[in-house]
Amino acid sequence: MVDADPRIDAAHAMPMAELVDRLQIAGLVRTSGELVGPCPSCGGKDRFGINLQKQIFNCRVCGAKGDQIALVQLALGMDFPAALEWLVGPRQELTPAQLAEQRRKREAAERRRHEAEEKARARTIRAARKIWFSTQPAEGTQVREYLTLRGITRERLPVLPPSIRFDPEARYMIPVSGTRDEWQTLHVGPAMVAAVVDPSGRVTAVHRTWLDLSQPKGKVILPDPHKDGELLPAKKVLGSKKGGAIRLASDRDARIMVMGEGLETTFSALVAHPYLEPASYWCGVDLGNMAGRRKLGPGLKYAGIPDMDDDRAWVPPESVRRLVFIQDGDSDPRLTRAKLEAGLRRAMMRRPGLSAAIAYPGEGKDLNDILMGDDHG
Ligand SMILES: [Zn+2]
Repeated sequence: MVDADPRIDAAHAMPMAELVDRLQIAGLVRTSGELVGPCPSCGGKDRFGINLQKQIFNCRVCGAKGDQIALVQLALGMDFPAALEWLVGPRQELTPAQLAEQRRKREAAERRRHEAEEKARARTIRAARKIWFSTQPAEGTQVREYLTLRGITRERLPVLPPSIRFDPEARYMIPVSGTRDEWQTLHVGPAMVAAVVDPSGRVTAVHRTWLDLSQPKGKVILPDPHKDGELLPAKKVLGSKKGGAIRLASDRDARIMVMGEGLETTFSALVAHPYLEPASYWCGVDLGNMAGRRKLGPGLKYAGIPDMDDDRAWVPPESVRRLVFIQDGDSDPRLTRAKLEAGLRRAMMRRPGLSAAIAYPGEGKDLNDILMGDDHG
């Protein structure tokens, strides 16, 4: 056994955001839980990211990644011992009392970080609820026209679910370039707003799709002001989606639950309703939320093993006996499948007796494509 250097723990207790200032790493902007910008080693614009929750960094291009010590190594070109010493000073033989004091400090720092995260989470939930409770019913608005454009016609869906509403003047915000916590309005316009609710039914996030009915797919086209020739997504989620879902159809007696990643896919499944008994149709918001945390490591990328320590991960209500995830056409079907499998396996472990399946419309296709094909084919 190697005697672990207690300074490594001390280094891990240092908040990454503070370290960025101390290292004077410039140009990082805050986007949901991350600092993103140029890599201190290989440059670029946005290839480098620091995950503030996991307190690790990663560069998509040069592959640099790691913890606080690795960041010092990367930014200052030091080896491990030098970086550790730069961070926390030279190694000393510590007395048990000093070690205990160090542990106390580390735990206090961890607690402060956790509290700050919870505060930030509560703040975004409040912002999301404020938006949700100022929206209008979707019927008779552009939301109806948008869904019709996507093949979800009035004939197929006579009544819109109350989890979908309309905001005629939704603000699309982006971070101010070169800052970490300042935001600016890029676009104001009509949006379909969907409520993401937690297991108790409380709204914790809003999922917004900005609309432009003159576009073929009905969604707004937003050029990215920071990246020439690239577009920003027309959809955004504000708030805390973790463990939540958008309940498009929720039948208390339903033993079958169908979940898609996107709203249009889930709507398409809802109007197709291929079952003889009632089913609930929930949208899982994104793959990561459907998967929950996965066990990762050598050889595990495609294994689809859920990390059962993730106690906020989504699981279906206890009344559900059969859970079906819809797999969208995707650039990396293997990874998509691994994520869906992780989510289904978690659900089966948490809900003994549950059966699970993946519905896969085919490579490069999703259910909404098929629905649209029915219309035009
Ligand atoms: Zn790099």
